[in-house]
Amino acid sequence: MTQQIVQTVLEEAKKYNAKRVTSVHLVIGKLTFLGIDQIKFSYHLLVKGTLMEHSKLLIEQMEPTVKCTSCGYQGPAKYVDDPAFHFAIPTLTCPKCGEQVTIKLGRECTIKNIGIVTNGQSGDTRDVEGGK
Ligand SMILES: [Zn+2]
Repeated sequence: MTQQIVQTVLEEAKKYNAKRVTSVHLVIGKLTFLGIDQIKFSYHLLVKGTLMEHSKLLIEQMEPTVKCTSCGYQGPAKYVDDPAFHFAIPTLTCPKCGEQVTIKLGRECTIKNIGIVTNGQSGDTRDVEGGK
């Protein structure tokens, strides 16, 4: 998953002729159950030797949104405190009627934006398609 993110950022950076990537801002749904530390760890391994080396990684967590087909409820998921894990976990139960809900948002991982450094000077060589 982190590898996919790194690949996408590198492709984007290429499109903009970036010399260096300075920051990457990710939005991660809380239902991905991905550990932030885990992402950061593999990120720093994967960016070594690429344009993204030494870039800052920002991770924003997004609350999940659920939808109930029985009563039409749409909004944040219901949380229950799990004493075994010492934190609140989202349930797939409707907070209004108790029926099962479907997850609308919260399982995705998206790249919100990236910070890049480009060499804006004239004299940059650029490949132009069909330029021969
Ligand atoms: Zn409901």
